[in-house]
Amino acid sequence: SVRAGIVVTGTEVLTGRIADQNGPWLSEQLLELGVDVAHITICGDRPADLTAQLRFLADQQMDLIVTSGGLGPTADDLTVATVAEFCGRDLQLDPALEDHIAGIIRRWRPDTVDLDDGPTRIGIRKQAHVPAGATAIPPTGTAPGVAVPATPDEPLPTILILPGPPVELQAMWPTAIASPAIAEVLSRADDLTQETIRAYGLHEAELAETLRRAEDSIPGFDALEITTCLRRGELDMVTRFAADGAEIYRQLLTFLTEHHGRQIFSTDGSTIEDQLIATLDGRLIATAESCTGGLIAARLTDRPGSSAYVTGGVVSYSNEAKSDLIDVPAELIASHGAVSEEVAAAMAEGALSRLKSDVAVSTTGIAGPSGGTEAKPVGTVCFGVAVKGRPTYTVTRRFPGDRERVRSLTTTAALHLVVA
Ligand code: ATP
Ligand code: MG
Repeated sequence: SVRAGIVVTGTEVLTGRIADQNGPWLSEQLLELGVDVAHITICGDRPADLTAQLRFLADQQMDLIVTSGGLGPTADDLTVATVAEFCGRDLQLDPALEDHIAGIIRRWRPDTVDLDDGPTRIGIRKQAHVPAGATAIPPTGTAPGVAVPATPDEPLPTILILPGPPVELQAMWPTAIASPAIAEVLSRADDLTQETIRAYGLHEAELAETLRRAEDSIPGFDALEITTCLRRGELDMVTRFAADGAEIYRQLLTFLTEHHGRQIFSTDGSTIEDQLIATLDGRLIATAESCTGGLIAARLTDRPGSSAYVTGGVVSYSNEAKSDLIDVPAELIASHGAVSEEVAAAMAEGALSRLKSDVAVSTTGIAGPSGGTEAKPVGTVCFGVAVKGRPTYTVTRRFPGDRERVRSLTTTAALHLVVA
């Protein structure tokens, strides 16, 4: 198999001022190519720290190291020089690359005065230096990437150097993986399949127990690499396997559906959003939210083109808003309380007619941390699902955790209720 390490550089990422996007993105791309990503490390802009991480990953027998960041024209962008030194290669000026970068800057900022001489030219020349024997990858911003091949006589990994800005890095990726040194490493990667099963209402410990029993009863279970992950109230199980694991995975799938058939809602990678769109099947949905404050509407409108199935959403937080915006009778709120299935039903029906949809979902609950009562403790949420021409469905659930968790779990639950 091909093992890879990712080194994210940048003091702004190290200090948390900027959340790392490149590590996760690169990891996903590499996994899709069948590469076993073993490490993602982050270091600041100090060359000695980058060198230490390269050393560490080389010692761990990585076949490939991908770095991000530090390719800019300024003196503090030192990744290429540091990698060159690490590999014992000299930096060489690539005149064609220098012309190419100068051309980009001339097109972008035609009024640059020091393009031929001065700081801008010094920066361009710096960026046009490539380690001996390495290949420059054409810039998608102004910084070229670099592919440094492994050499047989020195036990160093192949190193791919990419720019820091995520847009530039992602735009460069297709060309980068096609460059000969990188393509050679990737050609040795296993042809791995990745399958995702999603469950709702299943505890991680229960799944772990089922997997232990599956391991005992399915021969060759080791061929599967399984990771489980709890996300927004759903349990995702991702399984990776080579060709010889396909039949074993089929057996696992049968085993799991026998044990947790009710909770497993997806075996083909589809998300609850995908399934909701399929369930709507051309019909329109609206929301009436109290405790989730628009989070359901946000998830429903997350993807481009969602106007094809979302008409709108109302955040009716106060009692008055519930009455004024979606016609919940004030007497109903007075007699049952705002957090009640009666009010949830009225909210959903109000949204259905006011927002001219075919389906409407509502939430009203106590997200906490205060406001709970003995009968309705923090985490109590009432849901309504109104569907044109059908009696409105309501249910009450109780969710654990702090405010953020209760609201997130409520949002997921609402989507599942619409699909169910
Ligand atoms: P530049 O020519 O822009 O200096 P560079 O390759 O030197 O490119 P960096 O200086 O490391 O890249 O980063 C430039 C900017 O790109 C950062 O300030 C940050 O906004 C963004 N960036 C860099 N690395 C990451 C990352 N891992 N995740 C998200 N954003 C990043
Ligand atoms: Mg920089």
